[in-house]
Amino acid sequence: MNVETYCGGMADTNGYWIENDRVALLIDAPAGMGGWAGARCRERKARVAGLLLTHGHWDHIADAAAIQQELGVPVWIHRESAPLLEYPEIQAAFNPFQKIDPCKPDRVLEAEVRSRLEMFHFELLLCPGHCPGSLCLHFPDEKKLFAGDVLFAGGVGRWDLPGGSKEELMSSIANKLLVLPDETRIFPGHGPSTTVGEERRMNPFLAAFRPPRQR
Ligand SMILES: [Zn+2]
Ligand SMILES: [Zn+2]
Repeated sequence: MNVETYCGGMADTNGYWIENDRVALLIDAPAGMGGWAGARCRERKARVAGLLLTHGHWDHIADAAAIQQELGVPVWIHRESAPLLEYPEIQAAFNPFQKIDPCKPDRVLEAEVRSRLEMFHFELLLCPGHCPGSLCLHFPDEKKLFAGDVLFAGGVGRWDLPGGSKEELMSSIANKLLVLPDETRIFPGHGPSTTVGEERRMNPFLAAFRPPRQR
């Protein structure tokens, strides 16, 4: 599985192209992702099977409508994040920069544990706390995790935005992410990639989850 990163928009948000045998899955849609993904399709003679949104914040959905309409790609999001995608003006208060086109999701996900889209097999981990309906995608065979804005290299997601909760965020990280193998590579919604082991050992926000002598 080949992973390529696009970074764009006012918040330097990461979007990912993951590909198996010329079939791609897109994860998140920062501004400019549609044009980038369209060019990749032509270059690699690949086809995009779907766009999965980790959550509905403006910086992750900016190009969702364009990707759906111009590339004809179905859009998936969790039920609890779907209103932010369908009515992006809800978040105008914390996005004064940009008008976002609304997008009606093709598939609204519930908290299902395992899912598949063509040859992609993954677990959808429901990780609330940063945003209601935040999903992390885990590819167990590949030891890869797409973490949205839940966990970053050396940081964790904001919990002060509407629907956020520090307790929920920390419990999502502890119970859904830190239980994964140390070598699992994390591709976050902002910043560089990291691993579960690295964050377990070094991330200052996760000190409470380490044995006392390692803090
Ligand atoms: Zn976010
Ligand atoms: Zn973000």
